[in-house]
Amino acid sequence: KTKAVLSKDGKHYLISGQKMWISNAGFCKLFIVFARIEDDKNITGFIVENDPANGISLGDEEKKLGIHSSSTRQVFFNETKIPVENMLSERGSGFKIAMNALNIGRIKLAAACLEAQRRVVSEAVNYAIERKQFKTAIINFGAIKAKIAQMATNAYAGESASYRAAKNIEDRIAMRLEDGNSHQEAELKGVEEYAIECSILKVAVSEDVQQTADEGIQIFGGMGFSAEAPMESAWRDARIARIYEGTNEINRMLAVGMLVKKAMKGHVDLLGPATKVGEELMGIPSFETPDYSVLFAEENEMIAKLKKAFLMIAGSAVQKFGTDLEKHQQILLAASDILIEVYMAESTILRTEKNAKRFGEDKQQAQIAMAQLYLYNAVDVVIQKGKEAIVSFSEGDEQRLMLMGLKRFTKYTNQPNVASLRELIADKVANDKGYTFD
Ligand SMILES: Cc1cc2nc3c(=O)[nH]c(=O)nc-3n(C[C@H](O)[C@H](O)[C@H](O)COP(=O)(O)OP(=O)(O)OC[C@H]3O[C@@H](n4cnc5c(N)ncnc54)[C@H](O)[C@@H]3O)c2cc1C
Repeated sequence: KTKAVLSKDGKHYLISGQKMWISNAGFCKLFIVFARIEDDKNITGFIVENDPANGISLGDEEKKLGIHSSSTRQVFFNETKIPVENMLSERGSGFKIAMNALNIGRIKLAAACLEAQRRVVSEAVNYAIERKQFKTAIINFGAIKAKIAQMATNAYAGESASYRAAKNIEDRIAMRLEDGNSHQEAELKGVEEYAIECSILKVAVSEDVQQTADEGIQIFGGMGFSAEAPMESAWRDARIARIYEGTNEINRMLAVGMLVKKAMKGHVDLLGPATKVGEELMGIPSFETPDYSVLFAEENEMIAKLKKAFLMIAGSAVQKFGTDLEKHQQILLAASDILIEVYMAESTILRTEKNAKRFGEDKQQAQIAMAQLYLYNAVDVVIQKGKEAIVSFSEGDEQRLMLMGLKRFTKYTNQPNVASLRELIADKVANDKGYTFD
């Protein structure tokens, strides 16, 4: 609730109001403050020096569940004088700046969560190697191996998707610079074009880090619950990631919402491919099969089918509701979960395929297993969320056709043996005494 008013001599803005939940407020030298100038429709950004003599005061440190080493305080402005030249960019462009800062913040948050995941996996596996029960190190128990394998797999998938999006953003910025854009424009546009990926990463990795920390506690048993062991703070610190940089609910809806908007503006063809999937369903199924002895032949076929499942569901929902789709949040959330899983699984396969070519398949056995395990879990999510969405907005023959399509698009030809995949992954992490994949 912050307003800016131009001074009578036109040299300053006077900012008054308050902000909550300001990270680093306790020690920062500069604030970026968004405020509404008078009755403007849009907000404006300002660069504000943290000077208590200039009407700035802080609330007490918030008492938080986690991230205790991060300062979080309220900031109060009382007619704080800001020179007009401290306006960030132009009047009314604050929302755009804030959104772009959020996009970058989201992919950076994913990277931060990934480091937490890698540390939790390494701590957990080393504890499991040391801890003996029934005269056996607990790492030898299948129940523990399954957890370690899943934790490592999620970290590996998060890394794969983050590297992919980051490289895409870098390339796009370079392309825009070559096209003659200014550095600022190139960066703004480069990031904006991958805003969907940034939201996907934020949601997926923040949920994985929480799940990983939770399983980390479980592997530590009673010690996991103790504040003396590292898992307790890992679990508390992970919790915030689902809330800030836009909550996961908002980011889920944004991811699909942005895609639908791009489709409506003609920037992405969503309905064309969706119609093709519909026609394919009405026709005779193809019996062509890939050469399953080739690495990831089954998995790449599955990714292509999962994309069809997404197109079928999202395309039908857009056709049914048009721009009103944004009011149907549960459908958006289900579609978003499918989108997220497909992106994460595909990124994991792409990275592993590349590294298998580069270093040899024999050196990538655990990574191949992780890509397969991730995809297996992703297929389950697509089945569950797909059914939920289809039944919520269709009926009769249309519903039967889509459910049949979902079944066809999620069917494995060669069902993977996930128990042995988990065993292989966990043994590799245990042998390496930590998460060592790069
Ligand atoms: C430790 C910490 C540090 C932070 N640091 C900063 C900072 O430095 N700078 C800054 O600007 N902000 C910061 N924030 C703020 C943070 O970004 C917000 O708290 C967060 O975006 C959620 O907003 P909110 O708290 O208003 O929750 P609300 O918007 O009140 O959300 C409450 C619940 O309602 C749901 N919800 C809200 N709107 C909708 C909707 N339209 N449809 C469906 N569900 C909805 C949410 O998903 C959530 O589950 C920080 C917060 C914390 C806790």
